[in-house]
Amino acid sequence: MRKKLRLGIMGGTFDPIHYGHLVTAEEALVQFNLDRVLFMPTGVPVRKSHRMVTSSEHRYLMTVIATASNPDFVVSRMEVDRPGLTYTVDTMLALRAEYGSSAELYFITGADAVWDILSWRDSDRLADVCTFIAATRPGYDLSRFEQDEVSQHINIEFMEVPALAISSTDIRTRIAQRRPVRYLLPEAVAAYVAKNQLYTDESS
Ligand code: NAP
Repeated sequence: MRKKLRLGIMGGTFDPIHYGHLVTAEEALVQFNLDRVLFMPTGVPVRKSHRMVTSSEHRYLMTVIATASNPDFVVSRMEVDRPGLTYTVDTMLALRAEYGSSAELYFITGADAVWDILSWRDSDRLADVCTFIAATRPGYDLSRFEQDEVSQHINIEFMEVPALAISSTDIRTRIAQRRPVRYLLPEAVAAYVAKNQLYTDESS
């Protein structure tokens, strides 16, 4: 009998992608016995009106560069190429149609994003299609989830990832302030950022 596919979908804005994201994906691969992890950079993220998000093409290319050496990691253009705002439910339904009903889909993202999930478009439908893996930073207070409505409605697995002390926001600020980012993200991604003069303006 053919083994069921266990697919991780690593959703994020990745602005920029860093070692915290890569360690999260590797940890999920091993802990949840996944066959591979599909990185899914968002196209036009919802609820990011408070700041300018780097173009999806740059974020996609940085994700490709960061994951190139890992045979278990692949990158999808699905959200980058889909017109309009990016809704996770559209992506997961498309993946369900592509991989069939027997595939097990795990949507991996940051716990702070998952916290909000009941307000995402079609969250009930989304919850039927996949399991959520919520990555937490060290010291993250999980008790707020246990008391929250979200834990009764959505199947969420938590995974603490010490490397998530690294954050994209901190990296953007550091670059704008000309502070070092070496060892926070892959060197090739840092070179891409420098070559394209990304994140030089702190106000954005
Ligand atoms: P965000 O609000 O920018 O991120 C929330 C927190 O989670 C940040 O601390 C972030 O750290 C971390 N994070 C984000 N992605 C992560 C990942 N893959 N692994 C580990 N930590 C991660 O979240 P976002 O990037 O916009 O959205 C996350 C995912 O949820 C995306 O796939 C997005 O499309 C989806 N989403 C869907 C809806 C919807 O369908 N309505 C609404 C919101 C979000 P960094 O800044 O360091 O990454």
